[in-house]
Amino acid sequence: MNMPSLEPRLFIVAAPSGAGKSSLVNALLQCEPAISLSISHTTRPPRVGEEYGRHYFFVERGAFEQEISDGVFLEHAEVHGNLYGTSSQTVGTLLGQGRDVLLEIDWQGAAQIRQNHPDCVSIFILPPSRPELERRLRGRASDSEEVIARRLFNSREEISHAIEFDYIVVNDHFDEALEQLRTIVAAARSRQVLQLPRHPELIQTLLA
Ligand code: 5GP
Repeated sequence: MNMPSLEPRLFIVAAPSGAGKSSLVNALLQCEPAISLSISHTTRPPRVGEEYGRHYFFVERGAFEQEISDGVFLEHAEVHGNLYGTSSQTVGTLLGQGRDVLLEIDWQGAAQIRQNHPDCVSIFILPPSRPELERRLRGRASDSEEVIARRLFNSREEISHAIEFDYIVVNDHFDEALEQLRTIVAAARSRQVLQLPRHPELIQTLLA
């Protein structure tokens, strides 16, 4: 159902690099067309096949720093040596249109978002094991050995913040992890504060 939401939800999905987060998020967005992905700004160079405006808004560090000064970002952070940020305007416009919004960001960004949007729904994706995390990271052929080593090293820090998230999903079997994500989305939309205002007549009839 692609209906605007009365109280749109803000979802955050974080994970260590290599946990399979982007594939899961893409599959979730296919199943849930009422959720829009916020496209981040980054100073990271594009990987092969990545497009400006579809995967990221790729910008130079100087331009990104200017955007920070101009107050462009709802949150921003340095991750694996590059700057990443979420545009306040993009998120505000989508929420204003009644669209649910999903942010694919790191734990630092998630902590900043919780300050301004305490009712956001945050999900942390874990890999099933360290060897599998490494295998998946190495499977991304476009990353250099140095990039892979840095991401593996940083994964411990990222994972140590899983405890700050509302939900944890272990991505061992892709279809099961996707189903869990869909269940979390459905649960978030079923919250009493969202449902009661939608059914005033039903409640009145049932109480009569
Ligand atoms: P990648 O370079 O693999 O696309 O992303 C590296 C890390 O940066 C991932 O953990 C990803 O979630 C995070 N990231 C991507 N966009 C943003 C953003 O806008 N803000 C923050 N804080 N992290 C981001």
